[in-house]
Amino acid sequence: MKISFPHMGNLHIILSSAIRILGGEVIVPPYNSKTTLSLGTRNSPEAVCLPYKLLLGNYIQAIEAGAEAILMLDSPGICRLGQYSASSRNALIDLGYDIEFINFDLYQGKLKEIYKKFKRATNNGNPIDLVRAIKVALIKIDILDQLDHALAYYRAREIHIGSADSKYKKGIKAIENALTPRECRSAIKYALEQLSLVPIDANKEVLHVDITGEIFVVLDPFANLEIEKELGRLGVHVHRKLNLSDWTKSSLIPSILRFNETHGEKAKRYAKAYLKRDIGGDAIESIGDAALAGSNNSDGIIHLLPFTCMPEIISQNILTNVKMNNDVPILSIVLDEQMGKAGFNTRLEAFVDLIRRRKRKIA
Ligand code: SF4
Repeated sequence: MKISFPHMGNLHIILSSAIRILGGEVIVPPYNSKTTLSLGTRNSPEAVCLPYKLLLGNYIQAIEAGAEAILMLDSPGICRLGQYSASSRNALIDLGYDIEFINFDLYQGKLKEIYKKFKRATNNGNPIDLVRAIKVALIKIDILDQLDHALAYYRAREIHIGSADSKYKKGIKAIENALTPRECRSAIKYALEQLSLVPIDANKEVLHVDITGEIFVVLDPFANLEIEKELGRLGVHVHRKLNLSDWTKSSLIPSILRFNETHGEKAKRYAKAYLKRDIGGDAIESIGDAALAGSNNSDGIIHLLPFTCMPEIISQNILTNVKMNNDVPILSIVLDEQMGKAGFNTRLEAFVDLIRRRKRKIA
């Protein structure tokens, strides 16, 4: 069975290796593009959120490329996320596609569900292979986040624009090819060495900006119009507050085995003064990250939200209070298929200008 799954940042690297270790055949859909978005938009309800449209576009492109089964996520959620797999399944059936849907139902026990569904997708129920696949996937989640954080440092300080990205691509290739923990360790060592070759101005006056918001648009460079790259070009060291490794730590590791506070727990603690209960999506994280930014020397916060995303619309309104209490500039950017790159970059440049002048005035 040829298996596929949607994109979300570097997620395809993690899932592909897990399936390959188990002996399954993977079809990675073309990376998100205008074609993906237009396929998704054409077949989605108009007001549905951007991640859904991109996911549906991924599924269509994967099926057209020969996928026979699709991995989907059924996640507990108060927002539309809980409906994603059922709605996209209906849309694909209406389009006449005859494929198998393999749902990771996170309403069920997570580890048991991962075991069951990987077994179904690859026809390999050998627990030793499954443990190996999960172990490599978890290592890759960690090292990819590590590499992204290193990239943010070099991007903000590189002397030749784009040089950090070209070294990063070499590192990503090495991580993609690694299929054992030892190969993963060599790959991250190689990737970080590549980045260290980038000529930088270590004394450059850089700004520190936190990025938070809805996880899909925070992690996916196509959905967020490559915001991290654009900010790096403007001399901003980006601190991405939502990462896949945070999700695995809080979702897969039982709380009694966790020795440090997870990002989600910390965000919840800081958000408590503004929001006391989960309202879906990543709203608590957005508010907590913004509240925390008041005490972690950030020069500003960028809050990313998909158009019509209810939880983030609520957090966007609460952020006005956070901004007043913490005296930290916050820019909320609503993302949808109408967003143009030129206007987006102009807003980023204006924000960076503002926080640079503010920082110089305070210094
Ligand atoms: S958090 Fe927002 S964008 Fe994400 S699924 Fe829920 S409503 Fe859609």
